[in-house]
Amino acid sequence: METTSRCSPNDHLVIIGNGMASHRLIEALVKQPTRPQRITVIGAEPTPAYNRILLSPLLAGEMQQEALTLRDTAWYAEQGVTLILDEKVETLDRASQTLATDSGRSLDYDHLVIATGSRPALPDVPGIELEGVHGFRDLQDADALTDIAQQGGDAVVIGGGLLGLEAAEGLRKRGSEIKVSVLQRSERLMNRQLDTTAAHLLKDTLTQRGLQIITDAQVARLEGDAQGRVVKVHLADGRQLKASSVIVAAGITPNAQLGHQSGLTTQRAIVVDEFLTTSDTAISALGECCQFEGTTYGLVEPIWRQVEVLAATLCGMPTHGYADTPSATKLKISGVALYAFGPTEASAEHDVLSYHDLERGDYRRLLLRNGQIEGAVLYGDTSQGPWYFEQALAGTHLNAYRQALLFGAADVDVLREASQHSPDFSELSSKHSSSKHSSHTTSEAA
Ligand SMILES: Cc1cc2nc3c(=O)[nH]c(=O)nc-3n(C[C@H](O)[C@H](O)[C@H](O)COP(=O)(O)OP(=O)(O)OC[C@H]3O[C@@H](n4cnc5c(N)ncnc54)[C@H](O)[C@@H]3O)c2cc1C
Repeated sequence: METTSRCSPNDHLVIIGNGMASHRLIEALVKQPTRPQRITVIGAEPTPAYNRILLSPLLAGEMQQEALTLRDTAWYAEQGVTLILDEKVETLDRASQTLATDSGRSLDYDHLVIATGSRPALPDVPGIELEGVHGFRDLQDADALTDIAQQGGDAVVIGGGLLGLEAAEGLRKRGSEIKVSVLQRSERLMNRQLDTTAAHLLKDTLTQRGLQIITDAQVARLEGDAQGRVVKVHLADGRQLKASSVIVAAGITPNAQLGHQSGLTTQRAIVVDEFLTTSDTAISALGECCQFEGTTYGLVEPIWRQVEVLAATLCGMPTHGYADTPSATKLKISGVALYAFGPTEASAEHDVLSYHDLERGDYRRLLLRNGQIEGAVLYGDTSQGPWYFEQALAGTHLNAYRQALLFGAADVDVLREASQHSPDFSELSSKHSSSKHSSHTTSEAA
């Protein structure tokens, strides 16, 4: 275990960005006696960091804005942290260790953390700059989308991934006079997380709720009216959709501009090592604006582990450093339970276990390699998802419990117990397995 770019307690630590990663880092730092005493945070948004994940339930009207607040400005002051809001850092001068904001403020630093997150990736198509085209990233976007939902009309969401579907369902739930269409480039929804069966189940559910889902949809251009407002979406195959607004949720672009501008090693995002140190040892980068071993980030789970490493590093505490591990995906649409991790397509080396209860719309599929779980897709009853994920991370060998695996931890435990105590485990386990399958008579193997 080692530390590299630590701060001394007398150093001035400046953090650019006051989003989810920055906030979590500050929470971790202020608990440490060896923390840098002077910490300044500069955020471009007008409010202190909030729970961005909850923008989807906020849009859907399932939550009030106050519930998103993480800490108010008074808390920062109580922790001895200077919080500057509504100011964007525009330039970084590494030679003089200073930065400048869009309001003309200049600040010097001993150590800098860049935690600028990312922004919606905009497809490179004519008309993308038209009025009425929105992203879904912050509170302002959530407000704009709420207005769109309440005004009614034809909303077209570009992107049938996690974020696009949450935006589409939020719009539908929030407005009574709105027609919402989702355009997905791939042949199925959430193609990076779901297999074909689960994607079809999801599509059926959302269609029944009133969303129009169009797959294999490549956007060619957006058409505007004389006032420069979007009115139509044209697809590459000639189809056209009426659009009073367009919501773009087709991926994210890391906010790495400060890295580029100041000459830090930057590829898709700002490149960091396992201690989150950039190519300049006085500068760290964290969260969605950083790139580690070729990977960039879009979920909080890995970012929380980065925060632990960076907080330890900055406070001079030992740490093993950051290592990538797989993440699981959940969808935040009420009434739709979905849990997935690992590859979506089975390869020749995979042992595929699946279960499909057509009546209940309950679907489970596990991909095993050499008796270890490598991927799972659960739709409907997702209660065993975290257990499968744990087994996958731990690399548990589960071949001996194969016949119980689709039913989850409790059934596997029964077999495990039996294998430890019964002299005739194999007989018991086969009986157990057949009784389990016959108790699911409405089910069929997918
Ligand atoms: C609607 C929505 C739903 C989501 N749902 C999930 C989910 O269910 N599960 C999950 O794991 N993740 C989810 N995410 C992703 C998650 O929110 C992000 O992974 C997380 O917020 C990343 O944290 P970050 O600090 O890197 O970036 P952010 O939280 O985006 O924070 C970056 C901050 O830096 C500010 N900034 C940028 N440039 C500058 C500058 N030059 N100067 C000053 N400030 C600057 C930005 O304004 C922003 O406030 C969701 C995201 C959205 C938008």
